Amino acid sequence: MPTYRDEAVILRTHKLGEADRIVIMLSRRHGKIRAVAKGVRRTSSKFGSRLEPFMVADVQLYQGRSLDIVQQAESLGAYGSEIAVHYDRYTAASAMVETADRLSDSEATSDQYLLLVGGLRALSRGEHVPRSILDSYLLRVMALSGWAPSFDDCARCGTPGPHTTFVAQLGGVVCSQCAPAGSPRVAEKTLELLRSLLRGDWDAVDAASVAETSAASGLVGAYAQWHLERGIRSLAHVIDQSGEAR
Ligand SMILES: [Zn+2]
Repeated sequence: MPTYRDEAVILRTHKLGEADRIVIMLSRRHGKIRAVAKGVRRTSSKFGSRLEPFMVADVQLYQGRSLDIVQQAESLGAYGSEIAVHYDRYTAASAMVETADRLSDSEATSDQYLLLVGGLRALSRGEHVPRSILDSYLLRVMALSGWAPSFDDCARCGTPGPHTTFVAQLGGVVCSQCAPAGSPRVAEKTLELLRSLLRGDWDAVDAASVAETSAASGLVGAYAQWHLERGIRSLAHVIDQSGEAR
């Protein structure tokens, strides 16, 4: 019987039949996994609570023909409860798992797994403003997939920066020659914050003002929505409550 073991973040679940659940996970070594967890919706289930969104678990799976079957699950990070009781953490975490769920099989690498686990852990511990954790996560997800925005040289022609016009559709900052007429300007402080979010320079991120954080979030959101094509549903919630995230 082909079984395998891996670490995985639970991205989402849905009900199957009376007592079972389908669990979609991003794993460390096996990319995205869709598996059935049998009997987890019964109160006697030993591992049901370990297979909820935002949880990190060590799972053992049996390889099925279309869906794998969860045989065991041990908790590695019970981040769900600390995230769920704070609305701003919850909306940020929801956008993060939804983004991870969008990754194609070839993009679902162990680096993506580690990035998501780190982001969820930081959210559950309240280490930084939830929205900044999300923004940093989104920028780095895109960087890992080869879509890093440019914050220095012109994204279109490569002319060395600094440039002060950011156009999401063109891939980041653009020079005055490449900028479409009427493009809004971006403050240098906002660009600095965006670079810090991409690098994970948390001292600089934590020191940013609410206005800078909000301005950077707007650009990250526009860029992420453009580049993830269909737009992230959960991100719309986060953008809607702009200014309230702190
Ligand atoms: Zn240019």
